[in-house]
Amino acid sequence: MLIDRFGRAIEYLRLSVTDRCDLRCTYCIPEGFNDFEEPAHWLNFDEIERVVGAFARLGVSRVRLTGGEPLLRRNLPELAGRLKQLPGLDDLSLSTNATQLDKHADALFQAGVSRINVSLDSLQADRIAQVTGRDVLPKILAGLSAAKRAGFTPIKINMVALQGVNDDEIDTMVEYCIEQGYVLRLIETMPMGITGRQAQLLDLQPVKERLRARFGLIDGMNSGGGPARYLQTADKTFSVGFITPISQHFCDTCNRVRLAVDGTLYMCLGQNDRVELRPLLREGATDADLEQLILEAIAQKPERHEFREEPAKVVRFMSATGG
Ligand code: SAM
Repeated sequence: MLIDRFGRAIEYLRLSVTDRCDLRCTYCIPEGFNDFEEPAHWLNFDEIERVVGAFARLGVSRVRLTGGEPLLRRNLPELAGRLKQLPGLDDLSLSTNATQLDKHADALFQAGVSRINVSLDSLQADRIAQVTGRDVLPKILAGLSAAKRAGFTPIKINMVALQGVNDDEIDTMVEYCIEQGYVLRLIETMPMGITGRQAQLLDLQPVKERLRARFGLIDGMNSGGGPARYLQTADKTFSVGFITPISQHFCDTCNRVRLAVDGTLYMCLGQNDRVELRPLLREGATDADLEQLILEAIAQKPERHEFREEPAKVVRFMSATGG
């Protein structure tokens, strides 16, 4: 098992397969930004499989494919299929903006991706265009339908709550998710990069209490040790999670690390601690060397993020780390 110096078991890896994205969400990648990682620095599928294999031998059982936008990485279902075969890895999931999901949903599901999270900040086409920089709501909805048909379960909707932008739409999103059978997760903006710092942060604590009363929700279970705290209907057919890094952090139960596309391992989303795995991978290191480096990295995992105390600390965008 990977246990850090604060006694937390690390059993979850978020794997960024690209730092590129076809959207420019206002709180994530700035308009006109083009300083992406060079393809020569991307870990190839063999390298990714080796690293994930090492993590799996060390006790990591869950991997989420993310980015950037993971569906921009060519042949993603092939990679998913290869990772799914790794001994010890029993849960493979995906975070996507869904603009291309209608084309890939079946292949990803067949390859062994079982759970999917889709970013959707609004159900109004003009708002989606305003937040993402593109008129993509119909494509996202088509992607969601394809995910449903393919059999993904659960399907979770990630809605970044933005004061003055979509805060008046939260109840509508709850109703939509109840109707569609989706889990909703509301997310507070994190001060990652200049875009994250300038985002219209909305404190989700009052929203939580309001939704509890309006929809008759009760406290739910925390699924998979993640940061979301859930409310649910009494019959458990609907749940809404609150990811509140600013108003209430949950670092004491953090169970994850993040691997960027260039092989940088980030121990905390909100800190700069990192270990480079790519040099070792390309210099003929053995599996034992790789496992040793991962163990050393986990030993450096910070206790917590400092988004509130030091909001200017992290200059990279969420998309560069693998959000
Ligand atoms: N493209 C994929 C997607 O849309 O899910 C995966 C990567 S994206 C960076 C992952 C999640 O991070 C999305 O739900 C996005 O809305 C969220 N995100 C990006 N920047 C953020 C920020 N500064 N604060 C909070 N959430 C952010």
